Parts: sequence; structure tokens; C-alpha cells
Amino acid sequence: MTTRTTATARNENGQISHWVNGSEWKGDSNRFARVDNPATGRTLSKVHLASKADVNAVVSSSRMAFESWRHFSLRKRAEILLGFRELLVRHSGELAKIISSENGKTLADAAGEIERGLEVADFACGIAQLLKGGHSERVAGEVDTRSLRQPIGVVAGITPFNFPAMVPMWMFPIAIACGNSFVLKPSERDPSAAVVLARLFEQAGLPAGVFNVVHGDREAVDALLHHPDVAALSFVGSTPIARYVYETAASQGKRVQALGGAKNHMIVLPDADVAQAADAAVSAAFGSAGQRCMAVSVMVPVGEIADPLITAIAERVERLRVGEGTDPQTDMGPVISAKQVERILSLIESGLSEGARLVVDGRGLRVEGCENGYFLGACLFDHVTANMAIYREEIFGPVLNTVRCSSFDEALELVNANPYGNGAALFTRDGAAANRFEREVEAGMVGINVPIPVPAPFHSFGGWGDSLFGDTHIYGEEGVHFYTRGKVVTSRWTNAKAGADLGFQPAS
Ligand code: NAD
Repeated sequence: MTTRTTATARNENGQISHWVNGSEWKGDSNRFARVDNPATGRTLSKVHLASKADVNAVVSSSRMAFESWRHFSLRKRAEILLGFRELLVRHSGELAKIISSENGKTLADAAGEIERGLEVADFACGIAQLLKGGHSERVAGEVDTRSLRQPIGVVAGITPFNFPAMVPMWMFPIAIACGNSFVLKPSERDPSAAVVLARLFEQAGLPAGVFNVVHGDREAVDALLHHPDVAALSFVGSTPIARYVYETAASQGKRVQALGGAKNHMIVLPDADVAQAADAAVSAAFGSAGQRCMAVSVMVPVGEIADPLITAIAERVERLRVGEGTDPQTDMGPVISAKQVERILSLIESGLSEGARLVVDGRGLRVEGCENGYFLGACLFDHVTANMAIYREEIFGPVLNTVRCSSFDEALELVNANPYGNGAALFTRDGAAANRFEREVEAGMVGINVPIPVPAPFHSFGGWGDSLFGDTHIYGEEGVHFYTRGKVVTSRWTNAKAGADLGFQPAS
């Protein structure tokens, strides 16, 4: 096993390998993807892209590890998780730097995602309580019934680039605590965090093979979707791929939860505090350069608050400092790739040609010393309508659209007509309006005066509509449910000889 510190996941050749059975493994494929620093445009390393044969080898290692891991006591599992937690806290600074260099987000943001991931690990440490099951004494005569939840085997996680540590941590601490083995296929664009997490977990005592990491693209994903030994799949990424993963894995008889993209609205009622709403909109729209599935991408001011709110947002947006994520002065880093910059620019063009007004134009921004980075300044659109491409498509960049509405009814109708339903927020001082919003809005996660309502780990995370395929949310008790299957044991212990009875389940 390698003794390398967490400071890098790269080997001596500058390559990032799979992590299988307790050590780095190159696999047999000679396909690679480039991993760039989005702030400089420079290539940091190359990551191996697994072939189908590579995935088969990884799953077979996971399958073997599962056979012994499932028998570990609950206490031992929790003890290893606690050790992992401690190690991750100790190494979180190094991990944040790795994330910032491959993803572009600020160091503070990277530290924040590690922290949110840790919360799920904390939750999973209570696995003994979570797997307690139920017991009914004397359901009939001498008969007792017990409900158990048992692990399902090898489970896979396929994750996006925007949270390379947190999203995997929504999955693997719970899956592994439940007694499964876990194969992580992280984004090939920022793959190092996954390897660091697996290495730390093993340093904490997790047996080799219980947490494997396989890098790859569609070929690796397809191999996981079709592998007979993969019992369940958790996917987080864009909606078209989420739909594909859901349909393909389900048709193979697998349990699947596939979280997709989003278009999160923030309604601001006329009675809201303008400064508070403006601060919230700017943080939620431009944090991580808008590359959060819970980012607010559509602001919906109702009535006369629109003008002062847009002015307050514009003032704040113009003050944002855009630069390298590793610079502590930076508010907003680059987006993930040159291709994504081009895509966003073409959407902005379409918004202008369709009649939206660009109040703050972040195009053409130049970051000194980072001229080849994938930067785009924050953009604010006003007078956007629901038929425009900038409204219909998930932009996933630093662009905030404003759709003005004249009433709360109209605003709520707009939100509910949108095919996505990840998060939705309302800013108001009116309790009755808040109550109505909570009851009637068609979204899985709702914020009242909270722009990014990411649930705490003892609740669960998931959207509605095109933001989630499958019926189980991720983490929380729903996560425990997803990564286990039910078994109900009915038992009778008696010395009485009742004689044969052909009746069906006598009641007493
Ligand atoms: P993506 O869909 O491009 O990639 C996600 C994963 O799927 C990656 O591991 C990638 O390698 C794999 N993949 C990509 N193309 C594939 C294909 N054709 N076949 C099979 N697998 C494929 O997403 P991304 O660009 O990495 O991440 C951004 C997206 O993720 C946004 O749409 C964002 O809203 C979404 N997201 C959603 C949530 C949520 O909780 N709902 C959280 C984070 C990100």
C-alpha cells in the first residue's frame, strides 16, 4: 500500500490511478482524460479511464470485500467511521487545496463542502441506532415478528464535478456503515478527492476493497449499469444522464436513485427586506460560480420590489472579486472548462437576442496572471421570460435571471410549471404566504428566507420532477433505507404440540 500523503492523488508519472483493494491500480485500459486547473488552464495530470474489463475487476474486488465486511459488528463499523472522520478533519486543509486546484472553487467553498460531507459521516456513525429494526412480541400465540434491514451487496456511486468530496460523502459513509461495499466513479474532471477519501478511510481501518474508486467516462458508467454484481446505484449529475442512468439501471433490475439538474427559483415578495434578499440572492447565485445544484438561478421579484432589489443585487455583483480559488481574496473562481465558458456565452447571446436585458455584463473579464483560465464575470439578467433558452436550460454558471411577476399566484405558478423541482425559496415577512408556499410549491427542498435550503444530514436531500429519478432521496434515513433491504422474521419457540392445522396463519 502506498505511503503517499493526502497532498496529492497523482503518482510519480503525474497520473491519477484507480484505487482498488487497498492500493493504486492502473487497470488495463490506456485511455486517459486530462485534468486541468480551471484557473490557469494548465494541465495538472491525466486520469486513467477504465475499460469494461477494468470495471469488472473492480467490482469483483468489491464483491469479495463485501462478504467479510457485512459481518463486522456495528460497533466496529462505527469505530472505523469515527477514525475516518478524525483523519478527514486533520487533512481537510490539504484536501480543500486539491479540490480548489482541480475544480476552481475557492478554498473556503472547498472547506465548506468537506464540512457538509463530514456531517453525513457523523450521521452514519449512529448506524447502530439507525439499523435497530423492529420487534413485535406475541403477534399470535408464541409467535414473535422481527423486522431487520440488511446490506444489499456492492453499491456504486457516480458523481459530478461540482462537489468532488461532498456528493460522494452523501453516499459512501452510509452505504458502508450499512455493511455494503462501495465503488465510486467520480467525475473525471476533478478525480483526486475521491482517491484521497478512500485512502483516508482505509488508514482508519476500513478493510481493503470495501471502498474502491474507479475512474472513467461513459464506458465505465455503462459497465457499472450492466454489471450483475452491482446491486444498487446512486447517481448525481445532469438530468439527461440521470434519466439514462435511471432507465438503464432499473431495466437491469437494480435499485437506483438518480439526482439530476436544477433551475432553482427564489421568489421575493414586496414585504421582504431588500438588503437581506439581495445578499441571499448574490450568495446563492454566484457562490461556486453558480455551479451548485442548489444555486439560485432564477430570481422572481413580485410587484414593486423588483426595481430596488435589482439595483441592490447589481451593486453587490459588481463588487465581487473574481480570481483564482486559492487566493483568499477571491469571492468567485472560474467555471470548470473552456467548453463551459463557450456554452454560457452562447446562452447569454441567446438571452440578448430573445429580448432579455443584461443589467450586469460579466463577459470579457480578464484575471491578471490567469489569462488562460476559464473565467466569466457574474452576469445579471432582467426581463427574462419563461420561453427564453436562458430560462429553460440549466446554465450552471454565474448567470442570474430575473423573471418579474405581478402577484404571488403568478410567481408560484411559474415555479410549479418548471420541469425541475430541486429547491425553491421564498423571501417574505408574511407567515401566511410562507405557509402557503411550503404547502403548494412543487419542489423537494424548500427555503423560507433561506436561499439554499440544503437539508441537514438527519433529514434527506432530493428534488422533484426532472431533478430526481427514483423515489428515494439521498442520505438521512432514506439513505439507510436505500442501502439496505428489509427482512421480516416470524418465529415461534414452544414445547406445545398443537397438531396439524391446514388453516392459514391462525390468529391466536
Ligand atoms: P454530468 O451529468 O456531466 O456527469 C455526472 C457523472 O456522469 C460523471 O461521473 C460523468 O463521468 C458521468 N457521465 C457524463 N456523461 C455520461 C454519459 N454520456 N454516460 C454515462 N455517464 C456519463 O454532470 P456534471 O457536469 O459533472 O455535473 C453538473 C450537473 O450535476 C448539473 O446538472 C448539476 O445540477 C448536477 N448536480 C445535481 C445535484 C443534485 O443533487 N441534484 C448535485 C450536484 C450536481
